[in-house]
Amino acid sequence: ATITQEEREEILRNNFEHTIFSWSKQKGLNPISVERAEGVYLYDHDGTRYLDFSSGLMNVNIGHGNQRVTEAVARQMQQVSYVTPSCVTKVRGELGKKLAEICPGDLNKAFFTVCGATANENAIKLARLYTGRHKILSRYQSFHGASYGVISAGGDPRKIPVDSQQAPNFVHFDIPTAYRWPHAPETLLPESVAQLERIIGYEGPETIAAIMLEGESGTSGCLKYPDGYLKEVRRICDKYGILLIIDEVMSGFGRTGKWFGVDHSGIVPDLMALAKGVTSGYLPLGVLMVSDKIAARYDDTTLPLGLTYSAHPVSCAAALEVIQIYEDDQLIENTVAMGKYVEERVEELKSQHISIGEFRNTGLLGCLDLVKNRITKEPLAPFNAKPSEMGLMNKVAAKLKELGMYTFVRWNLVFIAPPLCVTREQVDEGLAIISEALKIADAECD
Ligand code: PLP
Repeated sequence: ATITQEEREEILRNNFEHTIFSWSKQKGLNPISVERAEGVYLYDHDGTRYLDFSSGLMNVNIGHGNQRVTEAVARQMQQVSYVTPSCVTKVRGELGKKLAEICPGDLNKAFFTVCGATANENAIKLARLYTGRHKILSRYQSFHGASYGVISAGGDPRKIPVDSQQAPNFVHFDIPTAYRWPHAPETLLPESVAQLERIIGYEGPETIAAIMLEGESGTSGCLKYPDGYLKEVRRICDKYGILLIIDEVMSGFGRTGKWFGVDHSGIVPDLMALAKGVTSGYLPLGVLMVSDKIAARYDDTTLPLGLTYSAHPVSCAAALEVIQIYEDDQLIENTVAMGKYVEERVEELKSQHISIGEFRNTGLLGCLDLVKNRITKEPLAPFNAKPSEMGLMNKVAAKLKELGMYTFVRWNLVFIAPPLCVTREQVDEGLAIISEALKIADAECD
């Protein structure tokens, strides 16, 4: 151990008595007490090593502890750590230019926020201002953040406890997925598109400001869009004068094997929200990328958006360095290769574990969908299950931790989303741990 038992206990006491943990019952928590982190590993105060198989919350894309970022941040802090968002700084302009280069189409201007939620909140605000319409359409089984507007936009059970506080003018639609589509596969796309157009008709297209979708589905279970779906959504948006907001908070910055999830479909959104991988979590930052057409509206009209920490110079410096690291270390290329490798290895695991219903991934944004029965596809824990109701899945999660893995486990899903610098050996190490833990799940399958 690197510290005494007494010091260890004080750390835990301070945390539990004086801080509040997100999305949890505060009693009975047993989190990893992290002392340091490097590459794909976390180390606790006892020196125990954990393989981080979800890159934190699918944000630490370059891996932990990269000293290039530390140095870039320190350099920026020595020069100027904060100025108001009304000032010009070198780093702000350079980051804006770089983002315009890597973002699709005419998304050429960046409005900087502090996180994913604030990027999406501002996207919604701007879409309503620009169109003069009020409704936002979004997907059930999606997540866009936890503040008022975006938790209402999301279709995640995390909003159910605050249901009475939902913001008005959010309408949800369903997008079925191939795995649980009971009809002929070729009907999936046309039915999904027809359903969306019906809802637009019922609501009145002239009332709808924007359709908001994740670039690739994340915490809801990497629920792939039907092939060609996003292209159809873009067409429908253009047909009715509806803006398309794409949330790349989780699917951006190489996670899916391209800069952005939306790059797989070749469409260009009107507004695009970024966060997480933009700094790989080294500092908080969100970005709303705005199309030329929308940005031009504010050439001669006052933009009614702002935050104290918009274009924070130190966060911008972290982002610039992180983006350079994606390029220098060829992390997007590695994501494609490691994504394929994970697919091959999971295919082998499927023959050993009857609890694996499906593995869905794009690059290194992936999860196992665990089922009680491969024919009925009944999930091992129901969508909507509270942590205390996850039964067997809690045992699987505890086993993963006991075997030295940190990863995101939710309902019947086990995420496989390691940092983009992961090696084959580390993938093998992680899948061996998962394989061991899945024996618990297999025992309950029929
Ligand atoms: N959008 C997506 C797709 C996310 O996955 C998340 C967080 O998980 C958010 C937005 C919210 O980002 P933040 O927690 O930085 O507000």
